[in-house]
Amino acid sequence: MIIPCTGEEGLKVDGFKLLSNRAAVHRLFNGPGPAEDIPDPPGYQSIRNAGLYMPVIDLIRKQLESMLSVVQLESGGKPVEIDGFRLKDLSDWAYPSACDPSEIIDHAGTRCNCNCVFCYNKGAPPSLAMQVPRRSAAEEFAEIRTRIKHFRPQAERSLFPGLGSTCEAFAHPRIMEILKELREKTGKVFRAVTNGAALTEPVIKGLADLKPVYLDISLNSSDPDRRGRLMGDRRPRVDIDALPLLKSAGIPYSVVIVPWTGVIIGPPVFGTIADRTGYFWGWLMLSAFGLISTCLFVLSIRLAARYRAGAAGECSPNARNGG
Ligand code: SF4
Repeated sequence: MIIPCTGEEGLKVDGFKLLSNRAAVHRLFNGPGPAEDIPDPPGYQSIRNAGLYMPVIDLIRKQLESMLSVVQLESGGKPVEIDGFRLKDLSDWAYPSACDPSEIIDHAGTRCNCNCVFCYNKGAPPSLAMQVPRRSAAEEFAEIRTRIKHFRPQAERSLFPGLGSTCEAFAHPRIMEILKELREKTGKVFRAVTNGAALTEPVIKGLADLKPVYLDISLNSSDPDRRGRLMGDRRPRVDIDALPLLKSAGIPYSVVIVPWTGVIIGPPVFGTIADRTGYFWGWLMLSAFGLISTCLFVLSIRLAARYRAGAAGECSPNARNGG
């Protein structure tokens, strides 16, 4: 119907920004242009991400875009520029769900208190890494409380789930409050994967009051020095000491060990060498050890054979008879 212009030149509009978030550009009409080079905003601010769970949101965007291309909306008799939309009543958006508590707990996993060499969150291409937007713990807590409000195990419905890989839920400063509120909604087991770095005595006592709880603990090494180096854990003893405390508190757990080159290389001494010097030197030391052991083994067999031959010669009748 119209061609937007700048000066005398026609312009193809291919994106828009929200007034509340001028940094993020949302693409329009899937058209080519500079907006294509701008990455999607993280989380559900991205239509692409939201569409993964709720394709109807993308449909609403398309309909809104096509409507805005032919009509001007007004408010109080004045034209208004529409630059975004939000969901009106979240209870309309709850979807069928088994209502596992981890659906909520995972939303607290937006940060981590370790820095593992093998972290699965490192190095993923941006298109796959559906990142969580950076927000304060208070903002995240507010969103999680909203999710708990719409978490309805009896009706088997909850809001659509989080995106991307979870980090460490126990690193969230409000995790115990979250778990307490969640316990009021469900009696199901709280099962969580944790690196254990936050499992101090008070936290374990708090968890004991919220049973049933089951933890999958990423221990990786019971040697504090090695755990510290592998996982970037500044207080590696906390997790190691947590295991007997969990046992006394009656909280079942499993221990997870990630197979990693520095760990699987064999006897502790070589694992430590590999940790300290890198896989190549650890492998070299192990190979040298293997080579030396093999040589010593062959040498000992040959010496034993020679000794046996000598002893047999001394005992043979010919030898005794001097011929
Ligand atoms: S504990 Fe998990 S999320 Fe944290 S650094 Fe290690 S692998 Fe990554």
